[in-house]
Amino acid sequence: MAETAFEYTTLLAQDLGPRASATDQEKAAADFLAREFAGMGYQVEIQPFTVRTLSPEDSGLTFDPPPGTTVAPEGIDDIQINLLSGTATGEASGILTPVNLAMRDDIPEGGLEGRVALIQRGTITFRQKVDRAGQAGAVAAVIYNNVAGDFRGTLGRPDPDSSSIPVVSISKEDGAKLLELLVQGEIIATVSVVRNELASRNVIAEKPGPGDQVVVLGAHYDSVPGLSGANDNAAGTAVLLTVAKSLAGVDLPFTVRFIPFGSEELGLRGSGAYIDSLTDEEVARIAAMMNFDTLATGSELNILGARKFTSLGIDLGQSLDIPVTRTSSPVGSSSDHATFQREGIPVIMFTAPDFSRIHTEQDTMEFVQADLLGDSARLALAMLQAPEFPGGP
Ligand SMILES: [Zn+2]
Repeated sequence: MAETAFEYTTLLAQDLGPRASATDQEKAAADFLAREFAGMGYQVEIQPFTVRTLSPEDSGLTFDPPPGTTVAPEGIDDIQINLLSGTATGEASGILTPVNLAMRDDIPEGGLEGRVALIQRGTITFRQKVDRAGQAGAVAAVIYNNVAGDFRGTLGRPDPDSSSIPVVSISKEDGAKLLELLVQGEIIATVSVVRNELASRNVIAEKPGPGDQVVVLGAHYDSVPGLSGANDNAAGTAVLLTVAKSLAGVDLPFTVRFIPFGSEELGLRGSGAYIDSLTDEEVARIAAMMNFDTLATGSELNILGARKFTSLGIDLGQSLDIPVTRTSSPVGSSSDHATFQREGIPVIMFTAPDFSRIHTEQDTMEFVQADLLGDSARLALAMLQAPEFPGGP
């Protein structure tokens, strides 16, 4: 089983290579996966979905002197911007107007009608700053860092009363440059925030079983652009294929659905699109979700998720001599199981503790441990065939 999984990992990571989210590379990988599952006898469908994503490359911040003046805004024609997630899209121009931290007293009495607010980071939330500027009439906002370098931030979800203006962030150094220039005269700033719509897809391979219960096995097959993504997550996808191959001739008391998810790296988009495509009844029928992600490097197999599943996994690991440890989710990391967990579906995640090379050039086959792939596949298979799995609600 370890050998089969290792071969599949090589096929995905080396032969197919980078599988950047929502690209033609991702599509080629999806087609490959669909063919493999179909060859095993599963009913296969490719589920397309659209990914809306902010594009820093297509967005920008540019400056012009006001009409009829000659102040040349020098040294600010190549300012690096970041986009705050939750920003409105669109383009707006206005006189760049500094408002410090955008505290109540910082807003000029005459308001900010038609202006672009230049705001310092700190003390209150980005959302509070942007809403205050917008309510005062600003058409866009530029937030500069309060410590050296640039930053990435989020505006969070807008409340219904909040304004919706395009917002970009810049470094502390560039903020200082702008403030210095504004002492000499007015500058017109144009803020443009562009969102792209990209095509992505999930592969859904199913074998119907008796009864209503559905068990979903998932693994994202996309990678970070330009990287082979061997551990993250050719390996998990390979384990998914290996489990599917072993189960092809096995009758299970539930419907089993294998889903290689697209665009996980853009924020769990594939699993989100999948859940969105289901009715409430269809969601309620999912009795378990098993996720396989970054499981190829480290000391031993780790499992996390619903207690009833991790307990079963530990017991089966002991009787089958598979080294496995129960862990909790590493801080700041997430994967497609989180999407199912949010719906109240019991989940189990198969992973391994060494994340040190993911999203780097070093995430290659060289560091993929075949034994870990085999352990994941064997334990998942044992769980799927255990009489107590998936159990009642
Ligand atoms: Zn991953």
